[in-house]
Amino acid sequence: MASVKHDLDDLALFGGRKAFLTPLHTNRPNLIDRARLFDRLNWALDNQWLSNGGPLVLEFEDRVAEIAGVSHCVATCNATVALQLLVHAAGLTGEVIMPSLTFAATAHAVRWLGLEPVFCDIDPATSCLDPKLVAAAITPRTSAIFGVHLWGRPCAVDELEKVAADNGIPVFFDAAHAIGCTTEGRLIGGFGAAEVFSFHATKVTGAFEGGAVVTNDPELADRVRALHNFGKGLKTVVDAGGTNGKMSEAAAAMGLTSLDAFPDTVRHNRSNYDLYLAELGPIDGLSFFTHDTEESNNFQYVIMNVDERVTGISRDLLLELLKAENAIALTPIGSPACHQLEPYRSRGPVHLPHTEAMVARVIALPSGSSVSREEIRRVCALIRFAVAHGAAVTSRRKDTP
Ligand SMILES: *Cc1c(COP(=O)(O)O)cnc(C)c1O
Repeated sequence: MASVKHDLDDLALFGGRKAFLTPLHTNRPNLIDRARLFDRLNWALDNQWLSNGGPLVLEFEDRVAEIAGVSHCVATCNATVALQLLVHAAGLTGEVIMPSLTFAATAHAVRWLGLEPVFCDIDPATSCLDPKLVAAAITPRTSAIFGVHLWGRPCAVDELEKVAADNGIPVFFDAAHAIGCTTEGRLIGGFGAAEVFSFHATKVTGAFEGGAVVTNDPELADRVRALHNFGKGLKTVVDAGGTNGKMSEAAAAMGLTSLDAFPDTVRHNRSNYDLYLAELGPIDGLSFFTHDTEESNNFQYVIMNVDERVTGISRDLLLELLKAENAIALTPIGSPACHQLEPYRSRGPVHLPHTEAMVARVIALPSGSSVSREEIRRVCALIRFAVAHGAAVTSRRKDTP
């Protein structure tokens, strides 16, 4: 088998045969029951109600509210628009404090509406916003805090809620990675003024495209619901009027079918995560972004940290080596960080030492329910080989243009 490498010449990077015949992608969609999806789509077509708060969307909203343990859910066309709906529903202006270590959508959502994302460093212990640094970054122009439960690990929710309350501003959470996760036994979804889930195709539960605002605040939910449907039914004037942020019945059909599969997906993800940790955890220089196993988690992201000083091979070269083998590991969402990307980079230098150290070293490994244990073992064998010959791979790569 080409995934068993005996010497450097066997590596695809140096002309050997690829370990995988077809690319193994990190963000493959999770498995669903296709027959159920097609049944739902047929039902929607027979029902002749394809958007505008149809029955499948309402069912989807109920299911998501239940998973999040909240009383209100508004399904949207995607999570980026869901974040923007919150900006208008809460009347935010000026600056919004958020981590730079997040997907660009968190920053772009507020930037698109003319607000300024203000990037704050992480606490290296959680990889999420450091509440002390958030408190220090608040100015008279700050109108909200956006926390992000990065890679499914919950933020310091209580501390961030306290900083927000002390300053009389709301805190919202971008929970795009954190559906089904808990912190101290409490479900993600009910924290802050509202939280946002993403149901993008690459997320743990996909709706092709989709998002949701979840909250326990009935007035905020009403405003979001009105704003996502051209402002119809608004009880007070919102300058922005309204937009079209609705989820379609087709997306809800896919979303419901993904939610049906969610418990199986999580079981599969957990066993992938355990296998990666067992296979690679003991190797010096590799460490994993772990989850508290006392809590619920969706285990969608398997994030490995590469310490080049120990492995002799850099994160970037390891990614290149794996890609050559068709084992497409990626830098995870958040790497590069937002302040390293345009349009934020040109605003002037921002130095976020913990964020920068984190993003330079991380790899997202292939996981999800469509990745088999056999495939994971082969990925792990490649990584083990690369690290065992780290210095030799690095010096040979320098000599091979
Ligand atoms: C995927 C993602 C989003 C955007 O979600 P869409 O549904 O694609 O708009 C926002 N924030 C984070 C952290 C994400 O990973």
